[in-house]
Amino acid sequence: MAQGDHLYDCYAPPAQEFVRGEGAYLFTEDGDKYLDFIAGIAVSGLGHGNETLINAVKDQADKLWHLSNMFRIQGQYELADRYCDALGWAGKVFFTNSGAEAVECAMKTARRYHYDQGDTERYEIITFTGAFHGRTFGTINAGGNPKYLKGFGPAIPGFTHLDFSELENLENHLSDKTAAVLFEPVQGEGGLRPVPIDLLKKVRQQCSDNGTLLIYDEVQCGAGRTGKLFAHQWADGGADPDIMASAKGIGGGFPLGACIAREEIASVMVPGTHGSTYGGNPMAMAAGKAVFDIMTEDGFLENVVKTSNFLKQQFESLKDEFPDVVDEIRGKGLLIGMRLKKPALAVRKNALSKGLLAGSAGDNVLRMAPPLIINEDHVREAVGILRACFKDAQSLDDFKG
Ligand SMILES: *Cc1c(COP(=O)(O)O)cnc(C)c1O
Repeated sequence: MAQGDHLYDCYAPPAQEFVRGEGAYLFTEDGDKYLDFIAGIAVSGLGHGNETLINAVKDQADKLWHLSNMFRIQGQYELADRYCDALGWAGKVFFTNSGAEAVECAMKTARRYHYDQGDTERYEIITFTGAFHGRTFGTINAGGNPKYLKGFGPAIPGFTHLDFSELENLENHLSDKTAAVLFEPVQGEGGLRPVPIDLLKKVRQQCSDNGTLLIYDEVQCGAGRTGKLFAHQWADGGADPDIMASAKGIGGGFPLGACIAREEIASVMVPGTHGSTYGGNPMAMAAGKAVFDIMTEDGFLENVVKTSNFLKQQFESLKDEFPDVVDEIRGKGLLIGMRLKKPALAVRKNALSKGLLAGSAGDNVLRMAPPLIINEDHVREAVGILRACFKDAQSLDDFKG
């Protein structure tokens, strides 16, 4: 039997096997060094091998690993306080192990809120094309991507999928049946499309006017990715959600998600309505607190803004240099991509062979989400590798990567 034969074939990883990480770099057993510009899909924001994070988890591992939510978990009080203080609008947090679970909790909270208000028919959840909300039954139905729904039985009712451009005309789609509008302030998997701040504000207002709850999925664009702790904070309080799902970067590599809601809304979720065995366990809380504290230190997010501005400018020059390869630079902060005119998957493969890890996203986008701790030298190194890839792509008609 070959290695991997006993695993589900849902993934097809390349031959490189990474055994160690340091800052923005990953190493194979042979010592080959790779520049990590995907960070486990926007997860390892602090990079690899962060001492403070390692020690926080080690200390907790020595004390206590797990209790379940049957018992008080001190770390949950502390981390929930941190998020709610940082966000202003937020009142209560439910901790999960993943992004999909955080979105599930957000959708359940929204429906239950209206139900408890006596509005039992208000259960419709509106989402948009290009969305990605996870891989559970609930979240594939929320996302509405036919590729992810295929073969998994009848669609779950109660979801309306609109074209992404219809966010501009949301008022035409809201009714007294609409429980919530759910979307990513910066679409990740869909191709790194940010929703303009003015539009976020308009949507906020329209949801309020209609009694519809606004849910942000900040699983990918949160945790400092865009240069604010959470992406919607770029609206300076002008587009705060009622409920937000986060995960990925908030655990720095330890599985951790959070559903965060306004006090009044979250208060409907009483004993018996929801639960999780692992969610918010002491190990996850130790990691989450360390990540939060580092990301909110003076200068951390400012540096993300500074580095991402430099990166964007460098990417724009690459676009000018390779007009036959690069179509458009997309994204926000260090969640950035290039829409390509050559197959993004092939370019991504070629980049890996040259020592750069990148991802891909819908709409033929080469996706990058480097650790938030990168500096301008890392950017220059990545740009050098991409330049070599684009030269390959440009010169070969049948470019295969
Ligand atoms: C990754 C992702 C999810 C799902 O998170 P998992 O931890 O894989 O369950 C949900 N929403 C968005 C925007 C994501 O990027």
